[in-house]
Amino acid sequence: MNTKTRSDVTIIGLGLMGRALVDTLLQTGHSTTVWNRTADKAEELITRGALRADSVDRAVIASPVTLLCVSDYPSLHTVLDPVGEQLDGRLLVNLTSGDSAQAREMARWAEKRGARYLDGAIMAVPPTIGTPEAVILLSGSKAAFEAQRSILDALGTATYLGEDHGLSSLYDVAGLSVMWGVLNAWLQGVALLSTAGVDAASFTPFAAQVAQGTVGWLEDYAGQVDGGSYPANDATLTTHAGGMAHLIEESERLGVNAELPKLFKTLVDRAITDGQAEASYPALITQFSPESTTS
Ligand code: NAP
Repeated sequence: MNTKTRSDVTIIGLGLMGRALVDTLLQTGHSTTVWNRTADKAEELITRGALRADSVDRAVIASPVTLLCVSDYPSLHTVLDPVGEQLDGRLLVNLTSGDSAQAREMARWAEKRGARYLDGAIMAVPPTIGTPEAVILLSGSKAAFEAQRSILDALGTATYLGEDHGLSSLYDVAGLSVMWGVLNAWLQGVALLSTAGVDAASFTPFAAQVAQGTVGWLEDYAGQVDGGSYPANDATLTTHAGGMAHLIEESERLGVNAELPKLFKTLVDRAITDGQAEASYPALITQFSPESTTS
């Protein structure tokens, strides 16, 4: 490996997100080499101090660490496959979105070429990069993560998840599942209240109170899922099913879309049929993850 480098970090991919990453690194005093397929996207960054690489191989040898932020993994392979021999001894930090299988495959690909590899996922929009609001999930070599803390912490709240390279993608989609769950449930409530002339702004403080209360149950429920035991200290699935029936009936009577509560009730009814009528709510994990056990 040529160990002579000219910058702290290289960034490949100067789309909306890549440019925000470079912008933040320059502002925090990191010398940064950039490469993008469409070269003119680098122009403005060059005027602010970024260093241009005129090829991918020059980009990767310019710095000990290369951040990758292109559209998807196939694009990533298009960029990196021709320069595999230059990667020996380098660290790749891949911030391109994808799934856990792609992340693990990329880690094996990098390892075969002598590179260290961290897989990442950005849970943020470009304007928040460089603020604590921008969560950067990372998985792979802990030593590599620790060695690059200065760069990763500059980008946002850098969060190390573990050695398995698939973890950052899995946390990413699990987080999105929570986000859409809350948003869709809130919209159901907004639609119900609108039939009585209550606007979304009036409903929202109450919705937030309920959401926060529900979050407060999660620690106890996580213990039940991890322990595989579901004592109904608060409410049984039968009680939940009764409440869901009211939500469905009220929605249908008022002309509000009832698909979401019907899905909830389908899952609960199936768990009750499976013998979990007296169990607490997290017993429903069996409907999401069939291999989970109950007692
Ligand atoms: P974008 O603005 O569409 O930019 C895409 C980048 O990928 C460009 O640099 C593009 O190069 C490059 N690219 C695409 N196909 C390529 C190929 N075959 N060969 C070489 N380069 C290729 O997208 P973005 O918003 O920056 O997103 C980049 C990554 O960040 C994605 O994985 C995205 O999911 C993730 N992300 C984005 C956001 C967000 O809010 N924007 C949030 C979280 C995560 P050209 O300029 O030459 O087209």
